[in-house]
Amino acid sequence: MAQMAERGSRSRSRSAAFTQTAVQDTETRDASGGLPGYLAPLSSLLADSVSTDQSNRKRKQQTASTSSRRPAKRSRRDQYAKGPLLGRGGFGSVFAGIRRSDGLPVAIKYVSKERTHTRLKVDGQGRLPLEVALMTRVSSPPVCPSVLQLLDWFDHRRRYVLILERPAPCQDLQSFCEENGCLDEPLAKKVLVQLIAALKHCQRRRVLHRDIKPENLLISTDSHDIKLLDFGCGDLMKDSAYRYFAGTPAFAPPEWFRHHRYHASPLTVWSIGVTLYNILCDCFPFRGTRTVTSKSRLHFPRKLSTECRQLIRWCLSAAPADRPSLDDIERHPWFQ
Ligand code: ADP
Ligand code: MG
Repeated sequence: MAQMAERGSRSRSRSAAFTQTAVQDTETRDASGGLPGYLAPLSSLLADSVSTDQSNRKRKQQTASTSSRRPAKRSRRDQYAKGPLLGRGGFGSVFAGIRRSDGLPVAIKYVSKERTHTRLKVDGQGRLPLEVALMTRVSSPPVCPSVLQLLDWFDHRRRYVLILERPAPCQDLQSFCEENGCLDEPLAKKVLVQLIAALKHCQRRRVLHRDIKPENLLISTDSHDIKLLDFGCGDLMKDSAYRYFAGTPAFAPPEWFRHHRYHASPLTVWSIGVTLYNILCDCFPFRGTRTVTSKSRLHFPRKLSTECRQLIRWCLSAAPADRPSLDDIERHPWFQ
């Protein structure tokens, strides 16, 4: 029996951004381990510890004797200071944060354990929660600059806490499009080239992301570099068909709705097509994916080039076998 874990649009909440200058990457930071000179002092918001669970426990800790293992664990969590909310999904929230030792911007993602009970084996690390396991696979060296890195994680009673890299200044691509309007073709091309590099990296690590959409892409507002994030709907990549769907229905391919099965590569390419259409046209390509057939017509704004239309049409082929591979997309004349 086919199963589906749907994800819709999340409610968005944005608080004031950090005022400090962005740290572009770890190499530019002070090798001495202290705060780099161009970082402003931590704001009072950042005085909060990573979680309230943690501060409550800390208070109890001060009045009670404990085992020798706990303080070590707690001091690891204390390495991060929590800042404003960046985004909230169905199963958790993401906050901006700072690594106290060196001022590195991080994001702190809380994931409810109700979201998933799946654990995956990772070499040398035992069985890890799904999102942590998939991110561990894609974050191990050699890394891909277009895939967001998992830096650390904690196992709380009711939730997992993921410490992620946070490029600054950045926005997710959906917010970026809401603020700046849809992308022009040169910028969409730049985004797509990086997305394909990220997805090829995931493919090499046998990770299926399964939730490609603008909300799950971070864009640096300075350099327009992008990073793929949110592996919470992902899975290990396999050659056979999947009969379970997790992700966002608006980006899911027609074969899922019709036959309740799909393969990794055509699903990914369909969601690339929807994403590309979405960031260029500011709407979805079809009224309902359920009814898409080879005769379904796609309408484009006049300004879009022939090559661009042709690539989107190819990615959104009704039959999975007619869709391009990631290599085919990379070689498409639109990029020449
Ligand atoms: P969910 O699983 O709830 O969809 P995501 O991991 O997609 O959570 O994060 C939700 C939102 O939070 C993203 O769309 C983005 O706006 C923001 N966000 C997530 N991670 C980061 C990060 N590392 N840096 C900056 N913003 C982030
Ligand atoms: Mg998400």
